[in-house]
Amino acid sequence: MISAGRAAERGKRVLLLEKNKRLGEKLSISGGGRCNITNAEQDQHTLLRAYGKAEQFLYSVFFQFGVKDTFSFFESKGLPLVVQARKRAFPNTEKAADVVAVLKRYVCDGEVEVLTGSPVTRIHAADGAITGVSSGTKTYHATDYIFATGGVSHPETGSTGDGLHWLAKLGHTVLQPTPSIVPLSVKEEWSKKLAGVSLSFMKITFFVDGKKAFSETGKILFTHFGLSGPLILNSAHKVVGLLEGGLVTATIDAYPHTDMGALGSRIVAAFDKNKNKALKNCIKEFVPDGTARGLAEIFAESIDITKKVHSVSKEERKQMVHLLKALPLTITGLMGFDRAVVADGGVPLTEVDMRTMRSKKVHNLYMTGDLLHVSRPSGGFSLQLCWSSGFVAGEHAGGSK
Ligand SMILES: Cc1cc2nc3c(=O)[nH]c(=O)nc-3n(C[C@H](O)[C@H](O)[C@H](O)COP(=O)(O)OP(=O)(O)OC[C@H]3O[C@@H](n4cnc5c(N)ncnc54)[C@H](O)[C@@H]3O)c2cc1C
Repeated sequence: MISAGRAAERGKRVLLLEKNKRLGEKLSISGGGRCNITNAEQDQHTLLRAYGKAEQFLYSVFFQFGVKDTFSFFESKGLPLVVQARKRAFPNTEKAADVVAVLKRYVCDGEVEVLTGSPVTRIHAADGAITGVSSGTKTYHATDYIFATGGVSHPETGSTGDGLHWLAKLGHTVLQPTPSIVPLSVKEEWSKKLAGVSLSFMKITFFVDGKKAFSETGKILFTHFGLSGPLILNSAHKVVGLLEGGLVTATIDAYPHTDMGALGSRIVAAFDKNKNKALKNCIKEFVPDGTARGLAEIFAESIDITKKVHSVSKEERKQMVHLLKALPLTITGLMGFDRAVVADGGVPLTEVDMRTMRSKKVHNLYMTGDLLHVSRPSGGFSLQLCWSSGFVAGEHAGGSK
């Protein structure tokens, strides 16, 4: 939409073919429906470093349309942005639908011809150029073509990987996508009992075959299949590598800022207050909010939780402290593309002229967004890549006039 709108703004005649009945399906579920539209990091170097190996390739694109441009683009169209924790920027209405509406208006104001419910089913090419695209029985011809068909995550939104398939046929390398910002599935039932509980300041440590790999601290969301939340989503790309190396386990430190002694005293204090209660009814007094049910299950594996707290031994209290400092989990894998926020994979940036987003293999083809092989963290970086690459493609497609 941003490519089409920009090309139209430059006076080009533009046709936008969309497979779905509505424009912007994925955008409308982004950020849990709030749309984390960009990352408000103002320092371009710091911002681009978040894109890892792609950093060097992205300067030219972001120079033409960067974070500041995203702010002015949406704000000038009546949608102010607000910056929240970790520099994540959202529309001030916190409604992804409002972002879609701005882009629809942009496209409409430029008199782009929009055909929804029109999946492109075939690309015609000859002599290193595209000669037409077919949708059903109709074939359309143009000077230049922009592929903006997305990747493969959440295929129900329309991103079924069609563009990646076409690009491979046109001679591009297409790196196999792995879901990169994605929840983890775990084996243990106790953690599934915590589904819906979100805990800040947790420390998770990952191990391969019992050997420590890495630790991160942040917010964890327990789900009915395993673990999610920013800390987990942003660790997933590292866990991919670990899963290839052996059995991956993890421990969660529920109180990373409290040492064992202080935690032991906390349990003793809770017991003193509840002398005649059964242990299972007192657990909520010394575990993080919302976790008592799940943690009762894990304590019950080694301690009789039906006994009164006054008969819990010192050794058993120690065991509980150890568990709270290292809740054990077995990571069975990454959730699939259906739950991924972004998948990497796609065309390597070396095959694209990054000043224009034009293919180096097919001279009248441009590509944008999730079609590009760029790993990035969550926090608005994916959509910023879409705005930047999309705008630049629209700036150059159809010639310089
Ligand atoms: C659940 C979820 C939440 C997310 N939240 C955020 C967030 O808050 N912030 C952020 O920065 N990123 C977020 N992302 C990532 C972000 O949404 C994507 O990076 C972005 O939408 C990619 O844009 P795109 O234009 O490349 O592709 P898409 O948004 O996938 O759009 C591709 C379009 O092409 C159409 N299409 C595909 N094939 C054809 C065909 N053959 N013919 C015609 N049309 C076709 C599709 O129907 C679709 O409308 C999220 C992703 C998901 C899945």
